[in-house]
Amino acid sequence: MNRFLVVVAAAVLAVTPAFGQQAIRSLPQPVATQPSIPAPRDVAYPGTLKLEVDATDLDRRIFGIKQSIPVTGPGPQTLLYAQWIMGNHAPRGPIYNYSGVTMTANGKPLAWTRDPGDVYAFHVNVPQGAKSIEVEAQFLSAIEPAQGPVMMTPEMLRLNWYIAALYPAGHYARRVNFDVTVKLPQGWDYATALETASSSNGVVKFKTTDWETVIDSPLFAGKYMRKFDLDPGGRSRVTLNAMGDELGQVDPSPEVIQVHRNLIVQADKLYGARHFNHYDFLLSVSDRLSGAGIEHQRSSDNGVGSGYFRNWDSGFVSKDLLAHEYNHSWNGKYRRGADLWTPNFNTPMRNSMLWLYEGQTQYYGNVLATRSGFVSKQQALDLIANNAAMYDARTGRNWRPLIDTTMDPIIAARRSLPWQNWQRSEDYYSEGQLIWMDVDTLIRERSGGKRSLDDFAKAFFGVNDGDWGTLTYTRKDVVATLNKIEPYDWEMFFKARVDDVAKKAPLDGLERGGYRLVYGDTPNAVWRDGEVRSRGANLLYSIGLSVDQNGKILLIQWDGPAWKAGLNTSLTVTGINGQAFSTDRLRAAVAATKAGAPVDLLIRMGETFKTVRIDYRGGHRYPRLERITGKPAYIDDILTAR
Ligand SMILES: [Zn+2]
Repeated sequence: MNRFLVVVAAAVLAVTPAFGQQAIRSLPQPVATQPSIPAPRDVAYPGTLKLEVDATDLDRRIFGIKQSIPVTGPGPQTLLYAQWIMGNHAPRGPIYNYSGVTMTANGKPLAWTRDPGDVYAFHVNVPQGAKSIEVEAQFLSAIEPAQGPVMMTPEMLRLNWYIAALYPAGHYARRVNFDVTVKLPQGWDYATALETASSSNGVVKFKTTDWETVIDSPLFAGKYMRKFDLDPGGRSRVTLNAMGDELGQVDPSPEVIQVHRNLIVQADKLYGARHFNHYDFLLSVSDRLSGAGIEHQRSSDNGVGSGYFRNWDSGFVSKDLLAHEYNHSWNGKYRRGADLWTPNFNTPMRNSMLWLYEGQTQYYGNVLATRSGFVSKQQALDLIANNAAMYDARTGRNWRPLIDTTMDPIIAARRSLPWQNWQRSEDYYSEGQLIWMDVDTLIRERSGGKRSLDDFAKAFFGVNDGDWGTLTYTRKDVVATLNKIEPYDWEMFFKARVDDVAKKAPLDGLERGGYRLVYGDTPNAVWRDGEVRSRGANLLYSIGLSVDQNGKILLIQWDGPAWKAGLNTSLTVTGINGQAFSTDRLRAAVAATKAGAPVDLLIRMGETFKTVRIDYRGGHRYPRLERITGKPAYIDDILTAR
């Protein structure tokens, strides 16, 4: 319809209301859909699937894939690409880069169709006489970080088998067997929790195992890889497999290796039992491969920036990473919330217990990192202070209970948020950490220092030594075990802090542990290290914003002084009180507010400029912990090596 006719039609409608009353509105009904994907059953899939991955195309970062999927007869068959990836807590299997998919049976092309209601499912009709479905495909891994995690560089690669494989619907993942083979670039070494059957000329064949174990055992391979025995003569092998952009990045001193060995000792002392027959820390030290931190039962996938070993004494970043992921072998992998365990990777996983899975792991990751010597006690206190301050100022706690944030990996998918402080994020990690400190100090106080959360850890996670299956639990089990350690109304305790809107941050554990959170003029060492690394200025608890080195606003505290001045994260600070922007000038301006000086910011928004006055008089407010004299220092004891 052209514009003239629209005007005429509108005019006719305007003068003839009866015509308007006869307007029709069609009301459709949904099309009935048939459930077309068989539900997983605890029944063995007949035969063994073959999966061959060619990981040698470093120039194009393409993984070549061949699969042979045995079938027992003709008829419909559904093949799945894993959607719910363990450790992601979300349905984000990277199917968008699974490409070039062709299938054959009896040597002839086999047409596939994708399920319109579930794009992770492929339907085929197996012809008479076919013994297997042959699949060829590629996984086109990211060339640039904006396309997803970078999995391949000229020096190293990370291979998660879920990127490469289809598996049959209708069976539990542990009932589907795989023979996995990978072809690696010449001369590269590799590491994985899978057990090698044979290896020659860069082709590695692994022993037959089930899909649940395969998907839980990623492979690292690199030109520069070094292996360190972290438990010499121990009851089960524990290896640190470190690969770097260059050999000099994976050359830790004996003292640093000793710290990593201490972690194995401290975890044994905490939990007693082990839930692996061997364990591999997979560690990439690289500025080119994407970073990571994903837990597995018998390994962990860790990616840190260059300098992790080289700048060991000056860096605080990622120091708890290995302790965190190792802890997950007990908490998260072996013991898992009953609603999170699923029979396969295309069944929705439910996150209701992540405040234990991730919250307590965040707690013990930091505690074990300190007990082992990854960080000093003072650094640990600084880290606790910075974390406590974040939740102390978390305005989103006024509307959103912590339990609701366990669904944030699904809701927000880890994208950047316009008002993170108000929206909250995956707060079950680090607010969970504070809640478990609360529990730990409460057990200590009530038992007169005789018992602690360590007793819970041993009783709950340290059972069935050597079992590397999965033992599920419910919240009732958690409360029951806590009650055995120290009788208390733990259900009400968690209801108030986890289920309900809790307007006050859970800082009781700090004070009960002998410390209070205070704010002062000087940043603590960990805070300063963060600013040195980012080259920005973090002024969130004073004027309520943080900026990068160029003045681009990174975060704004909801309802804080910068928020009240109308600023947002699309803006750039270009001037301060009549001078050009620098982070030092911004800090100096905030310091001068105590004496009544203004903070006038020249703000750039696209092609326009405006001056904004921030109404603030408080000077700097950097968090730190202050010892409460006369109170038992439970936190000191918590952080001390066993
Ligand atoms: Zn974790």
